[in-house]
Amino acid sequence: MTPQQNIAIIGGGIAGLASAYYLKKAGHQVTLFEASNHWGGKIISRTVEGCLLEGGPDSLLTEKPWALDLCRELGIEDELLPSNDAQRSFSILHNHRLHPFPAGCKLFIPQKVTPILTTPLLSIPGKARMLMEPFINHKKPQEDESLADFTRRHFGQETLNRLAGPLLGGIYGGDPEDMSMAATFPRLRMLENKHGSLVKGMASMMKMAKQRERAGTAPSLFTSLKSGMQKLPDTLAAHLSDHLRPNHRVKSLQKNGQGWLVDGEAFDRVVIALPAVQAAELFAELDPEFHQLLQRQQTSSSATLSLVFDRKDLSEIPGGFGFMSSHPLQSLLVGCTWTGTKFNHREADDRFICRLFLGGPFAHEAIVARDEQALVAPALEKLREICPFIPATPRAHWLQFWPNGNPGYQLGHLDWVKEIHTHTEALGNLHLLGSSYQGVSVSDCVKQAQDLASQ
Ligand SMILES: Cc1cc2nc3c(=O)[nH]c(=O)nc-3n(C[C@H](O)[C@H](O)[C@H](O)COP(=O)(O)OP(=O)(O)OC[C@H]3O[C@@H](n4cnc5c(N)ncnc54)[C@H](O)[C@@H]3O)c2cc1C
Repeated sequence: MTPQQNIAIIGGGIAGLASAYYLKKAGHQVTLFEASNHWGGKIISRTVEGCLLEGGPDSLLTEKPWALDLCRELGIEDELLPSNDAQRSFSILHNHRLHPFPAGCKLFIPQKVTPILTTPLLSIPGKARMLMEPFINHKKPQEDESLADFTRRHFGQETLNRLAGPLLGGIYGGDPEDMSMAATFPRLRMLENKHGSLVKGMASMMKMAKQRERAGTAPSLFTSLKSGMQKLPDTLAAHLSDHLRPNHRVKSLQKNGQGWLVDGEAFDRVVIALPAVQAAELFAELDPEFHQLLQRQQTSSSATLSLVFDRKDLSEIPGGFGFMSSHPLQSLLVGCTWTGTKFNHREADDRFICRLFLGGPFAHEAIVARDEQALVAPALEKLREICPFIPATPRAHWLQFWPNGNPGYQLGHLDWVKEIHTHTEALGNLHLLGSSYQGVSVSDCVKQAQDLASQ
């Protein structure tokens, strides 16, 4: 970019805020338009009954360092809060019961034989199929492959349903049958390319990780912020105060010579930091072909239901970080986090909190309709069926809807991103970034913003 451009950024989620921050730092004049008066988009924290709750992301994935680097740069390093990894374990809900996820697996890739042989999650043929992986010649397709096909090819259907699906599908909130392996877990493909077997590839990666552990440089898997995830967008917004336009939903984009008009205001360049389906709306008249291209991304819906209980009312305090449901889903309950076990600084002393993830075909309509009644009681009932120690009545709850809020990284996603890039190049001085394109995590969004500013 030539220095000192006048740049409009549309969308005040983490992608838009980080873009505005890095572009301003690079010397540009920035203006950030946000439809609501909330900064952070899907990042939203709230205190209820003295407990700190998260309606969207609850943590940063430590292995993707860009958001952590940004926190350090913003001077909020002392806010970083690692997960309580001494208690890191979780379960899979299968056939109405919770089963511990087999120990010794990295992701869903086994590194020890005994936990696989003894887990009740897999049948004997399922176990045999999983353990045969290093001895099979895996025939890789040339083109993109679904996450489900990739897992089946390596470990069989049971591993997909009961171990890989809940883990990998849970991260994206999507159906593993539709999700692009190349776009979502490229590192697993790289392991396959290098070692053939994922078990062997992971063993070699673990060796290096162990060395880091011994050197004391291994970070925890998840990191949150002591005063809540909202601290990150709030800090960015404080740095950008003169450049913010809250409560301004951008409705019109027009070309203006080499530059752009944003609701009639002239800019040299525009950055659209919106989910693709929302970005599409801005091109409905201006460029119908681009509008259709953006609309091609499928989405799924989810909701988080945070429940606050009196600790004394629980007959048992569960261990571990929580559980995920096996595939295919049998109810609206996708997973549950025992929040106070995963992170300190979340629960008031006499309270117990948990956070349920709702989604899939059993919840979609109610989420889109924002129908609280259709979700809260059924979700609590489902939870109590599995965990009878949970009281029937919470002191408080917070249901946060994300209708069509999860971008589907469906097969061919990388080609779709390339097509978008070609189209924006042709339009000129236009950039699209955020969770719809090059990674859904908060950190991926920060990285896209960093890359844009350093172009
Ligand atoms: C339930 C849930 C849990 C998650 N957990 C994690 C996690 O633990 N860790 C992790 O790393 N990631 C997690 N994610 C993913 C991550 O939170 C999101 O991918 C990321 O926050 C998306 O940021 P964004 O800036 O791309 O989009 P958004 O956050 O959607 O921001 C878009 C913004 O644009 C605004 N907007 C829309 N239209 C207009 C317009 N026309 N004009 C102006 N403004 C407009 C919206 O109001 C919004 O503020 C989770 C997501 C969900 C839904």
